[in-house]
Amino acid sequence: MRKISLDKILQSQGFGTRKYCRSLIEDGEVSVNGVVVDDYRESFDTDNLTLRVFDEEWLYREHVYIALNKPANFECSRKPSHHPGVLTLLPEQFSWRDIQPVGRLDHDTTGLLLLSDDGPFIHKQSSPRHHVPKVYRATTAEPVTEALISALLSGVQLHDEPEPLAAVSCRQTGESELHIILEQGKYHQVKRMLAAAGNHCAALERVAIGKLTLSALGLAQGEWTFLDAEQLALLV
Ligand code: URA
Repeated sequence: MRKISLDKILQSQGFGTRKYCRSLIEDGEVSVNGVVVDDYRESFDTDNLTLRVFDEEWLYREHVYIALNKPANFECSRKPSHHPGVLTLLPEQFSWRDIQPVGRLDHDTTGLLLLSDDGPFIHKQSSPRHHVPKVYRATTAEPVTEALISALLSGVQLHDEPEPLAAVSCRQTGESELHIILEQGKYHQVKRMLAAAGNHCAALERVAIGKLTLSALGLAQGEWTFLDAEQLALLV
């Protein structure tokens, strides 16, 4: 059991500075598990803790695990240069947490992006030793051919890689569309592999990470959701 004072709890959830959180509590704006608490020193076990702040319910989360359907023209970088950053798609309250994208998608790539403030989780998910398959739907500039599929499956040489890189799986899903599954996460990997195999990527969407699919999440572009333990377990 972990007991924390209410002002610290509120601050950790992104409600503002410690001073501001104390004032919210003293003004009677905060209920804990259904009871108004006006003493910020009172401490609570954080398991199954439900807060109500300004009449809005908020489940305490030590860490957040978020899935976003990334639209085009947003950058994953924490210091974006040409387009707004993906963090601007999350509520203002999250800016108090150290939330980071887990890995990166190019500014023009859409689809499933994870974000979290749990360092070990981010590290594990982004580690090259952690072979989580990433599934992409690529629209190609030229029609997909058997030769393209077999080159991607047998491996293509990218100029700065010591070994050829191969897709785990690759299947044609339209005249100029394929689903490609990669286990590595090299810079511009899908685009560079398609170019090295003699085609060109016209559009790219990440549709799944592990067994967590964008379609099951039902998120429109720009929408996000918290992931629960069951969904996190799909990120094998
Ligand atoms: N491969 C790419 O080329 N771009 C991405 O955004 C992701 C994978």
